[in-house]
Amino acid sequence: TISILWFRRDLRLADHPALLAAVDSSDEVLPVFVRDPVLLARGGVRAERLEASLAALSADTGGALIVRTGEPAAVIAELAETVGADQVHVSRESTPYGRRRDDRVRRALAGDGRELVETGSPYAVGPGRVLNKSGEPYRVFTPFARAWHDHGWPEPGDRPDDISWAADPDSGASEDVDPGPGGAGRGGEAGEQAALARWREFLHEDLTSYGDQRDRPDLDTTSRLSVHLKYGEIHPRTILAELADHPGSDSEGARRFVTELAWREFYADVLWHRPRSAWRDLRDTLEGMDYDEGPETAALVEAWQQGLTGYPFVDAGMRQLRAEGWMHNRVRMVTASFLVKDLHVWWPSGARYFLDHLRDGDLASNNHGWQWVAGTGTDASPYFRVFNPVTQGVKFDPDGDYVRRWIPELAHLSGAAAHEPWRAADGYDHGYPERIVDHAEERRETLRRYDRARGDG
Ligand code: FAD
Repeated sequence: TISILWFRRDLRLADHPALLAAVDSSDEVLPVFVRDPVLLARGGVRAERLEASLAALSADTGGALIVRTGEPAAVIAELAETVGADQVHVSRESTPYGRRRDDRVRRALAGDGRELVETGSPYAVGPGRVLNKSGEPYRVFTPFARAWHDHGWPEPGDRPDDISWAADPDSGASEDVDPGPGGAGRGGEAGEQAALARWREFLHEDLTSYGDQRDRPDLDTTSRLSVHLKYGEIHPRTILAELADHPGSDSEGARRFVTELAWREFYADVLWHRPRSAWRDLRDTLEGMDYDEGPETAALVEAWQQGLTGYPFVDAGMRQLRAEGWMHNRVRMVTASFLVKDLHVWWPSGARYFLDHLRDGDLASNNHGWQWVAGTGTDASPYFRVFNPVTQGVKFDPDGDYVRRWIPELAHLSGAAAHEPWRAADGYDHGYPERIVDHAEERRETLRRYDRARGDG
């Protein structure tokens, strides 16, 4: 007998519950990836990174991985029929599009008496499973994280010793994968082996200092696992299990790190229960909020996208995003806040831009991260909290190293002076732009708009 393993956000062979289920249920497993034109329509850097990950997976399966392009329900149903597979195994998907797609695939298969079998998910605890005592989902993070922790997670599954991969039934239709340049910078390499190596390097070298250093983009010592988690090159359960066995598992760094993984799980859970929150305000408290649009705003947004706002910390982040397809978490918060609270743009437009440019672009983490900054999401920070792009820079990049790394026009300013070129006589000598808005004034404007929207003004 043959079963199909349809890979999606789980491009690995170890600790892969759906793979284990496929191996258990049949003599041979046909490994398939479907390039879905709907998902590939945007986000060129993600598509490029996906190719690199597929190339690694293909090598790990000894070249057995079959890649096809098309509407997944049609491709999968046809393959299942051709090889006579009664079961198609997948990891359970939790995004709105993924769930609709899987419903279509399930129906297409059921028409021929075949089954879509869901085992496991890209999360330590499947989205939707952590509920409070009344059976309701959690709406704020801290009680969720506690319950998630108490829920616990199964031990990682082994990598099956020897898998009999089935041969491509139509090798003429087989598509190549293009590993590409392999991605830039540290953590840029793709695939399961690279993910495990990155995780273990972080565990041994940077975990204990994570508590103190995680907010410092200049030090750049966070795990950079987001991109590996995005493609499922490593399962979070593997990370949590190895962490628990590590001597530093009681450290503040380890606790903080688990909390960050819990945010990823929480946002996926929120999206599972409230799929509309991907693109709409989660809370309606700011329903009447005025946002700007039109040509003048478009020019400001363009400056933000290009890293030319005249605020060094913001510009460094936006340039890192374009160069690396990744940005440090602290800088994601500050750049997002700048768009929403200094330029008065509704958060979905920034979330869209981030998703199009991040290699780790993930609907749940990104869009709920934006909602958190905008004050419309879970755990909304108080509405009067507006990040100051200058003091944030001075605090979290105290020597200006991060700014100089990304902004050559400021390389001549030493130390923290790089955060305030307007104070230096030669600050603008190398072409760095003047500030496009006055932060103090825009902050007051944001607060006025909030007050009006809340009916206090
Ligand atoms: P580490 O600090 O090493 O954290 C470890 C892991 O925990 C991360 O890999 C990630 O999986 C998870 N994590 C950490 N912080 C968060 C968080 N705030 N929310 C959810 N998960 C978290 N993360 C993405 O994976 N994809 C996105 O598209 C994304 N967009 C974001 C947009 C905004 C506006 C904000 C504020 C945050 C966003 N994040 C996103 C969360 C966070 O910035 C990144 O996960 C983190 O910077 C990735 O770097 P790292 O792997 O070195 O993180």
